[in-house]
Amino acid sequence: MLIVMHHSATDAQIDAVEKAVRDMGLQAVPIPGSMRTAIGVLGNQGYVDDSAIRELPGVRETIHVSKPYKLVSRDFHPESTVVDVKGVKFGDGCTPVIIAGPCSIESEAQMLAAAREVKAAGARILRGGAFKPRTGPHSFQGLGVDGLRLLRLAGAAAGLPVITEVMRIEQLDAVCRHADILQIGARNMQNFDLLKEVGKLRVPVLLKRGMSATIEEFLAAAEYIVAEGNTDVILCERGIRTFERATRNTLDLSVVPLIREMSHLPIIVDPSHATGKRTLVAPMSKAALVAGAHGVMVEVHPDPDRALCDGAQSLDGKAFAKLMDELRGLLTYLGY
Ligand code: PEP
Ligand code: MN
Repeated sequence: MLIVMHHSATDAQIDAVEKAVRDMGLQAVPIPGSMRTAIGVLGNQGYVDDSAIRELPGVRETIHVSKPYKLVSRDFHPESTVVDVKGVKFGDGCTPVIIAGPCSIESEAQMLAAAREVKAAGARILRGGAFKPRTGPHSFQGLGVDGLRLLRLAGAAAGLPVITEVMRIEQLDAVCRHADILQIGARNMQNFDLLKEVGKLRVPVLLKRGMSATIEEFLAAAEYIVAEGNTDVILCERGIRTFERATRNTLDLSVVPLIREMSHLPIIVDPSHATGKRTLVAPMSKAALVAGAHGVMVEVHPDPDRALCDGAQSLDGKAFAKLMDELRGLLTYLGY
């Protein structure tokens, strides 16, 4: 439930409402805003009888929120969240961030070359997977902790913050030692124990949409992280499973403006996993920025045809540099 106070409500009236909420055995979360003062009510399992609250001085209205998420919704938090990763900012009013790098960390030479190429082209964060969620057990599973070291090494050499996927709670210590953003992959979007654990950390999280997740489930997954206290969550649309087989997934681009309406969290797009085809990465990156994405994450490999994972959707350094040139023109047009 959301309690909206009158503009003229005094601090004492707000305190009294918060106390009344706590007396009902519920949590009261003040929601400061330039447009209104509101108090979020958390901890209720079902409908809250708000008759006593509505009568309190200073209360304008109460709004029942029946969605499985509250903290990540605009109703509860009208101002947009900006997530700051070592000075690289994601969110409204910030220049969209391009994240780039290989699907998987394969070797020191590959990572150093990838980092050099993406940095020279203008990417602001380096990606690379050390723990890989592969569909089959016979595929390359990633270099694990050795890979994390190579990612950090390459990021440091290029002067870029790094992002990598964490699949299990037991990997969190090692990943936190080496990464600036924790990536929760599509397959783990509803790994609720993992979500709760990363929620207890103070490290930015990139949460990818599950391949069959509805927007409500996506936001409810983000709610798990924010409910534990970690508000630095970036959402990522990476395509959903549909009947269409010509592309690896179907890029659901309308979630970008929709999530910007529904939630205050930043949202980026991954056109590589969304399409599975390198020729589609540039047009869909542009479409994502036009739709209002706060960033794009692109797979880039120094030699895509020899990549151990996802080569078909990876750009080489030259194609990525060309894309970045085009994106710069587009961003200027969009007013950045
Ligand atoms: C990835 O980004 O490396 C990845 C595995 O993506 P997803 O979880 O979206 O499939
Ligand atoms: Mn990949």
